[in-house]
Amino acid sequence: MDIPIINLKAQFQEVKEEILKKIGEILSEQKLILGDYVKLLEKTIGEYTGVPYAISCANGTDALILSLMALGIKEGDEVITTPYTFFSTASSIALLGGRPVFVDIDERDLNINPEFIEAAITPKTKAIMVVHLFGKLCDMKPIEDIADRYGLSLIEDMAQSLGARKDGKMAGSFGDIAALSFYPTKNLGGIGEGGMVLTKREDLGEKVKKLRVHGMGQVPYIHEMLGINSRLDEIKACALTVKFPHLEAWNRKRIENALYYNERFKGLPLILPRIEGDQDHIFHLYVVRTEKREGLKEHLKQKGVQTGVYYPVPLHLQECFGYLGYKKGDLPVSEVASRTSLALPVYPELKEEEREYIAGAVIEFFT
Ligand SMILES: *Cc1c(COP(=O)(O)O)cnc(C)c1O
Repeated sequence: MDIPIINLKAQFQEVKEEILKKIGEILSEQKLILGDYVKLLEKTIGEYTGVPYAISCANGTDALILSLMALGIKEGDEVITTPYTFFSTASSIALLGGRPVFVDIDERDLNINPEFIEAAITPKTKAIMVVHLFGKLCDMKPIEDIADRYGLSLIEDMAQSLGARKDGKMAGSFGDIAALSFYPTKNLGGIGEGGMVLTKREDLGEKVKKLRVHGMGQVPYIHEMLGINSRLDEIKACALTVKFPHLEAWNRKRIENALYYNERFKGLPLILPRIEGDQDHIFHLYVVRTEKREGLKEHLKQKGVQTGVYYPVPLHLQECFGYLGYKKGDLPVSEVASRTSLALPVYPELKEEEREYIAGAVIEFFT
């Protein structure tokens, strides 16, 4: 059997006809940028997450940059975040001249450990940026408390967690502002790059709307602030509106696959992702941990099962962040996670016999 880590072709088959038809119409109309489908997508995601201001943009990295710009993050400002995440979480801070301050993760859910945040706060700290990694919501209550107590802005990098929720509260609705990605491999993946900023604050929403079009307001060519060009194309927005109605079912399939694996892997020397009730983990990735990661990866490869390593080098040890002065051993939980994590295929289109095959191959490795 040959099983990829994600199967975008299978998913596209479900929506192909409708997307192709609508793209044809858009191209005939030649209304290509920030049109009706963009508006519809923004309305749809805003209502789904319960966040009043939803502003699309070119990609998830820009969504982070726009969020930080809207909050006024500038040269010298410190933003507390996790080192165990995709690069843009921290690069967005650094690109604006800010300083990412990394605090270690909780070994239970691999998200930023709220217990370490307070000690990292200095007079220069302006914000906390959390990441709901692999689709698992952070433990938000203590983090919200700290942000409130110290008057810090709270940013959610929700690139991997659209649809994750706890007690009915959705990812993206906790902080001041949130950044979403529609990169093709995300849970709601587009037909190209795409992103969105979500905020409940009107001031930030209005600012982001201007920032994504060169800082222009209602009057063309009058620039109220220094913005960037980060618009979403109509054809990409359209494809996302066609895919959106499937998101809940797709996320549930991911959770079912994860529950299945967790059941099959009971008793193996593997650290399994925790699944705690409703839908606080939507399994963008299903990640197990083992000191035998390289061996397991190789074994699965021999069996035709593709796996992924997210992320092989934590951000505090990336060469480009050398100037921040971190060294090996500074953030040990993240470093162990980088060495031991392995993602197995969990995508919604995974067939029952495929996941059985994958589970069997994993069990075989350990017995
Ligand atoms: C994908 C991702 C991003 C960046 O999104 P792009 O659309 O690829 O720019 C940021 N943060 C996290 C955690 C991601 O997974």
